[in-house]
Amino acid sequence: MTSTPQASPTANTKRQRPVIAIDGPAGAGKSTLAAHLARRFGFLNLETGAMYRALALKAIESDLSFDDEAPLLDLAAYTRISLEPQFEGNRVVLDGIDVSRRVRDSDVTEAASRVSVHPHLRAWMVEQQRALGAAGGVVMEGRDIGTAVFPDAEVKIFLDASPEVRGDRRYRQVISPSNALERPAMQRTPGAEAAQQAILRDLKERDERDRNRVESPLKPAPDAVVLDSTTMTLEEVLARAEEIVRSHLA
Ligand code: C5P
Repeated sequence: MTSTPQASPTANTKRQRPVIAIDGPAGAGKSTLAAHLARRFGFLNLETGAMYRALALKAIESDLSFDDEAPLLDLAAYTRISLEPQFEGNRVVLDGIDVSRRVRDSDVTEAASRVSVHPHLRAWMVEQQRALGAAGGVVMEGRDIGTAVFPDAEVKIFLDASPEVRGDRRYRQVISPSNALERPAMQRTPGAEAAQQAILRDLKERDERDRNRVESPLKPAPDAVVLDSTTMTLEEVLARAEEIVRSHLA
């Protein structure tokens, strides 16, 4: 690859419809919330994490190191990633192949977290994400949407929860995928507890990487509404977020 796409400021004067930015750490329930808001307001739902996952998958298949940026950038130069919004989440297409399921596997989850620390790679992603959302009418979900991709987004929500609650939700999602954001019932078998501990450990590790990277670390934009869902039910989170969107768009 000879040139690296550079992130340029967005110009919301060109947008016909608003952008809703949903950011937050892993397991906070962003995908559930973004899909809900997209349906409610008739917007497209775009999961930017799926793009990092798709590139990470290609890096795995190409046997590349996740920690070395230059070969990853070369790889990106001949990679096509598209997101196709569905009723629940996105269909992820990598170089013409549907990888929607594969990108959710744990090896890809770990690899995506590692490849996403690289600044030039992030600039490449950000450029594509801005193009996807340029016309507005999107709920875009990720880690840096309100701070880097669309700093001029009309609505910004930073969805957070304690690591323990996020870990428990992730565990429930693994055993029953439709239950994201619901308050978990702790299971007490030794196997279940070990699995929960492992999920919590991975999640904290990914949080650490997201929050401490040099380029666009995970943090709420100064003008984001921070929604801490630690003690909230799914219905409460959705209702509160809808209120936030309505008040900002009014
Ligand atoms: O959201 P999801 O878990 O699918 O994201 C996969 C990984 O991609 C995350 O662990 C995060 O490190 C990275 N990511 C990012 N910026 C985004 C979206 C995701 O760095 N906007």
